[in-house]
Amino acid sequence: MLKKLFQSFRSPLRRAQHPRSTPEVLSSRQHSLTHSQISRHAVSVVERLQKAGYEAYVVGGCVRDLLLNYTPKDFDVATSATPEQVRAEFRNARVIGRRFKLVHVHFGREIIEVATFRANHPQGDDEEDSNQSSRNESGRILRDNVYGTLEDDAQRRDFTINALYYDPSTERILDYARGVKDIDNHLIRLIGVPEQRYQEDPVRMLRAIRFAAKLDFDIEKHSAEPIRRLAPMLREIPSARLFDEVLKLFLSGVAEETFELLLEYDLYAPLFPASAKALEQRPEYAGSLIRQALANTDERVHLGKPVTPAFLFAALLWPALPARVLQLQDRGLPPIAAMQEAAHTLIVEQCQRTAVPKRFTIPIREIWDMQERLPRRHGKRADLLLENPRFRAGYDFLLLRESAGEETDGLGDWWTDYQEASDSERRAMIRDLSGKDDAGGAPRKRRRGGNRRRRGPQDGAPSSAD
Ligand code: ATP
Ligand code: MG
Repeated sequence: MLKKLFQSFRSPLRRAQHPRSTPEVLSSRQHSLTHSQISRHAVSVVERLQKAGYEAYVVGGCVRDLLLNYTPKDFDVATSATPEQVRAEFRNARVIGRRFKLVHVHFGREIIEVATFRANHPQGDDEEDSNQSSRNESGRILRDNVYGTLEDDAQRRDFTINALYYDPSTERILDYARGVKDIDNHLIRLIGVPEQRYQEDPVRMLRAIRFAAKLDFDIEKHSAEPIRRLAPMLREIPSARLFDEVLKLFLSGVAEETFELLLEYDLYAPLFPASAKALEQRPEYAGSLIRQALANTDERVHLGKPVTPAFLFAALLWPALPARVLQLQDRGLPPIAAMQEAAHTLIVEQCQRTAVPKRFTIPIREIWDMQERLPRRHGKRADLLLENPRFRAGYDFLLLRESAGEETDGLGDWWTDYQEASDSERRAMIRDLSGKDDAGGAPRKRRRGGNRRRRGPQDGAPSSAD
C-alpha cells in the first residue's frame, strides 16, 4: 500500500496523458473517416459481432492511418467477445496464440485480426502471488492476458493516436486519450506515465521511432525524454521479437529516417552493437555504406520491388568485418579463413540481439563470400559467377561498397559491362585481365607492412583482394 502511495508521488502525473473513462465522441461530421474506406470484411466482422450482442470496433493503426490519408496495412477489430465467442460466430475463424489468444477471421487473402478487450496489470498487483508475477523487477510486463472493458483496452494501448475506436454502424470515433488532437498536431505521445510505459514494454521505444518516421510526426517531449536513458532495456527483449521489430523499422519505406532517429535516441547500439561500434570507429565509411543501403531499400519499397532482409543485414554488418578480419589475420589466420571466421562470429553475435533466421543468415554469408569471388574472373570463373543465383545480390552489394568509397579498381563497372557484353566481347574482357593481380589464382598472402594497414580498416573491404 505504502509502496503504491510513494510510487504515485514519484510519477509525473501532471504531465501524463491519462485516458478518461468517458471518451470524446466524434460524430461522422466531426471527422474525415468514412464507412467506405474501411475494409468491407472488417465492417462485416464488426457488424456480425454487434448483432450477436457484443461490443466491437475497428481500432488502432488503421483508424490512425485513414485519418491521415494513408492506406492502412491491415484492419484490426477489438471486441468484448472472448476468442471462443468470436470463433463461434464465424466459420472462417481461427484462434491463434496460446497465452494471449487472438482470432484471425479469413476472407480469401485478407485476414481480420480480432482481439478481445484487454486490461493492464496494475503495477504492484503482483505482491500477493509472486509465483504468478506478471511483471519483472524493472516493471516489464511478462504476461498480458487479462481481459477487460473498452476503457481498460484504451488505457493499455501504447500511443494516443493508436487508441481510437471506430464504429462503422454509427460512424462515430471514440477517443479516450485525445488521440485526434495529437493526430492534428503530429505528435507521438504515450498514454500514461512515459517512463513506466517504456519499462512495461521497452519495444514501445522502437514503436515511437517507427511511427515518428512513418508518419513524419514529432515525439512529444515527455514521451521522448526517457528514451535515451531506458534504451539499454532493449537488451532484455527476446531476440525473435526484436528481429520482427527491426524488419518493421527498416522495411517500411522510411528506413533512412528511421536510422537517424535510432541513432539520435541511442537505440541503434542495443540492436546492432557491432555495427554501432564500426560507425563510431569509421563514421564516414560505415555511415555512408549503411545510409546508401537504406536509401536503396526505401527506393525499392516505393517501387514495389522485393527487398530481402539478408541484403539489409549484410550491409548493416559489413562495416564491422574489416577490423575483425585484420585481428584474426594478426593472430596468424590466412585471409580467407579470417574472413570466414569473422563473418561467422559476427552473425552469431548479431543473432543474440535479433534472431535472424537461417533462411537469411545463409544468404548474408553468400553475399559476403561473393565479394571475395567477384575480383577473380579468369578462365570460366566469370561465367560461373554469372550463373550463381546469388550473383545479382553480390553485384549490387559490390556497387554499394563502391558508392561508400571503397576502392575496387573499377570492378563494379567491369561487371556491369560484362553482363551486357556479347560472347566474343566477354572473351576479350577476360583476356584483357591477364595482367591483373586479382584475376584468378589462389588468394594472395597478406602483405606485410603499410599497404594493408592503409587500405584495410580505413577505407573499406575486409576482402582479401585488397
Ligand atoms: P502498423 O501500421 O504498423 O500496423 P499499428 O498501430 O496497427 O501500426 P500494430 O503493431 O499492428 O500497430 O498494433 C495494433 C495496435 O495494438 C496498435 O495500434 C496499438 O494500439 C496496440 N499495440 C501494439 N503494440 C503495442 C504495445 N507494445 N504496447 C501497447 N499497445 C500496443
Ligand atoms: Mg496494424
